[in-house]
Amino acid sequence: MKRTLVTGGAGFLGSHLCKKLLQEGHEVLCVDNFFTGRRENIHELLDYKNFELLRHDITFPLYVEVDEIYNLACPASPVHYQFDPVQTTKTSVVGAINMLGLAKRLKIRILQASTSEVYGDPSIHPQTEDYWGNVNPIGPRACYDEGKRCAETLFFDYFRQHNLDIKVVRIFNTYGPNMQPNDGRVVSNFILQALNNKPITIFGDGAQTRSFCYVDDLIDGMYKMMQTEKGFTGPVNIGNPYEFSMLQLAEKVIELTGSKSQISFQPLPQDDPKQRQPDINQAKSKLNWQPNVQLEEGLVKTVEYFKSIVS
Ligand code: NAD
Ligand code: UDP
Ligand code: UDP
Repeated sequence: MKRTLVTGGAGFLGSHLCKKLLQEGHEVLCVDNFFTGRRENIHELLDYKNFELLRHDITFPLYVEVDEIYNLACPASPVHYQFDPVQTTKTSVVGAINMLGLAKRLKIRILQASTSEVYGDPSIHPQTEDYWGNVNPIGPRACYDEGKRCAETLFFDYFRQHNLDIKVVRIFNTYGPNMQPNDGRVVSNFILQALNNKPITIFGDGAQTRSFCYVDDLIDGMYKMMQTEKGFTGPVNIGNPYEFSMLQLAEKVIELTGSKSQISFQPLPQDDPKQRQPDINQAKSKLNWQPNVQLEEGLVKTVEYFKSIVS
């Protein structure tokens, strides 16, 4: 049985990944400092005899014995990663060094959950993996974007310098159950506002676009990446290429919830990317992966989840 370490395992994506790994017959060691992770996310996993939970901050060294590592620890929403930006950079950079050091000592495979934010406010569209990005290094989003870019640098240097078995996926916006209600992300905000008949807060004019992937699809892609042959490092984009504007999203959420909410336009945050859409040709050809869940279907499940936690 494979013993798999998931850092950030109590978070939104991590909790789904831990569940998938348990279902695939892995033993799972979930490491989390509970900065943005929640006990409720992993509550049902505590019943699995192969699930183990360790409260630990990965900016400190970690000495455990495992067979592979998924490195997901890092707050992902702007509200949370900007709350303590220095800690955000430390988590991405020092955390990556520690997890890479652990993988190096054990000579094991390690996957990095990178992000579409490495492309910043992109000047090519859709974004292919060979695009180097357009990131403001000193802006309020830099702690996350540059931290994640540096983590990728470290992964590729451990690969070149130490022949480490690395995998890097660049995750695009993802949504679904276990998203935190208070993380300020657009899907959770809009659904909660709609369910409470409160104004839907659109930042800017709502013309900016995103491409949202349902969490089950995303986890499937990440898992497939981990199964690829040694030497295939990525980075590989994982996301749903179906692109829509925030105004369209607001209208869809209002329609699905039957809400009486009005739209309220608010100032656009600094450095907010105007457009984002993954080119997923690599994921299709190398991982034999593509998303299956349509926006409406995924939103319905997410609305059900938020109804269940607010009631
Ligand atoms: P999340 O905030 O729900 O989960 C992150 C988890 O990491 C939390 O449980 C948190 O407590 C934990 N954590 C944070 N700092 C830590 C530290 N120093 N030591 C140990 N644990 C720590 O976010 P998420 O959406 O589940 O994102 C998971 C990963 O995927 C992140 O690395 C994020 O950058 C990446 N990602 C997510 C998205 C998305 O749309 N959700 C998009 C791109 C990339
Ligand atoms: N490390 C860890 N667990 C291990 C091995 C290493 O947390 O099982 C950390 C350790 O703190 C070290 C970092 O990983 O600083 C990088 O390790 P590496 O061997 O690459 O570098 P070095 O130990 O030479 O600094
Ligand atoms: N956004 C919005 N209203 C909200 C929250 C976010 O209009 O209540 C916008 C935000 O400005 C951005 C998009 O929705 O253009 C996606 O924001 P999110 O924080 O979810 O993701 P990211 O900006 O990291 O892609």
